[in-house]
Amino acid sequence: MLTAIVGINWGDEGKGRMVDLLSESQDIVVRYQGGNNAGHTVVNDTGEYILNLLPSGILRSNITCVMGNGMAIDLAHLDGEISRLREKGITINPDNLKISDRAIITMPYHVRLDCLEEDRLAGEKYGSTRRGIAPVYGDKYLKKAIRMGELLDLESIARRLKGIVEYKTLTIENVYNSDPVSYDEMLNYLKKYAAIFSDYICDVGLYLTDAIKKDKKIMFEAQLGALRDIDFGIYPYTSSSSTLAAYAPIGAGIPGKKLDRIIGIMKAYSSCVGEGPFTTEMFGEEAEMLRGVGKEIGAATKRPRRVGAFDAVASRYGVLVQGADELALTKLDILSYMEKIPICTGYEVDGEIIRDFPIGARLSRAKPVYEYMPGWKCDISGCRTKESLPKAALDYILYLESLVDCPITYVSVGPERDAYILMK
Ligand code: GDP
Repeated sequence: MLTAIVGINWGDEGKGRMVDLLSESQDIVVRYQGGNNAGHTVVNDTGEYILNLLPSGILRSNITCVMGNGMAIDLAHLDGEISRLREKGITINPDNLKISDRAIITMPYHVRLDCLEEDRLAGEKYGSTRRGIAPVYGDKYLKKAIRMGELLDLESIARRLKGIVEYKTLTIENVYNSDPVSYDEMLNYLKKYAAIFSDYICDVGLYLTDAIKKDKKIMFEAQLGALRDIDFGIYPYTSSSSTLAAYAPIGAGIPGKKLDRIIGIMKAYSSCVGEGPFTTEMFGEEAEMLRGVGKEIGAATKRPRRVGAFDAVASRYGVLVQGADELALTKLDILSYMEKIPICTGYEVDGEIIRDFPIGARLSRAKPVYEYMPGWKCDISGCRTKESLPKAALDYILYLESLVDCPITYVSVGPERDAYILMK
């Protein structure tokens, strides 16, 4: 059984929290794209954990985690993340963590290049997290990235690294007028982490194929959401990888396999980190209030997130491109303070009302068309059944379900593992 947990919106929907919950009955959890440019916050009975690179399944002792070839791995960051979890008593070793030999390595010069380019763009910046993600994925397609498997053969890496460092130095010196990249430093960096990670690196495709034969349950965990997908998101304000469920088998190392179940994680309102069009954005006191109650501060970057009303146009598009079979609606409890709840049901673009998500300049010009629903004005964080929800909250859920045309099977009403309602 292959299940994907993917984001319907701009990311930060609470995917990590849902993977943590739904992985109880799984055997393997796979991260299939992205790097340490976003974070999942997971709260369970043993504490609060922030995961940037490791799959959220790492918090469960019965699960083997896989980092797929679609990922970009910052070795120093991964080493730190593993150490922090070990300090909290989490076991991590080559038996429960397997890293794809085809995953690409985010090098220190990628981080530098990311910062140099964002600084050059200044007012026109993309809102990069400055973690080197666009430069390393760029290098993947330029065929200048270094892959995890190369750490197993340091002699050949030493040879290939020469040309790569030369190319990077040419770029950094001549385009950005900055200091050259040191070959020795980069080689030592790779040697240091080769010693740490060699035993974790393998052909994860073979491992997963074998697991499928043995009828193991595998969950695929996405980073970010549909609207940050490199092809189908709000380009160029997207991430540099594919955040879609369709990419999960490819980014995991089993391109010929098909998913059995796609669960989309959709937030009860909107939030977005970084730049780009965000049609239902709230400002001033209204935004402060929602940001404060929702604790909308980026897990990876600590940047305050932009917040807004639920956007049915963007979310329906998210459901469509993810191919979601069902949805988990998260953070419904955050809306409990609202007298009336705005829902964006259409966009006005150049005097015309549209309901299909536009791209480019048309998206930037879109104005939200709102409907309002009455709030429930009481604490719902203790609700564990559909029947115990106030009618106004249930009406809100059912209306969102009809707007995005996909069944909502889970509603989450708090960050804790058990703070959810099974709807169907
Ligand atoms: P992810 O990247 O999609 O996993 O999302 P993040 O971890 O960046 O953001 C989700 C945040 O919301 C985390 O801090 C979660 O602990 C928290 N969270 C998730 N679901 C709920 C919920 O239903 N209610 C509340 N109050 N917080 C939630």
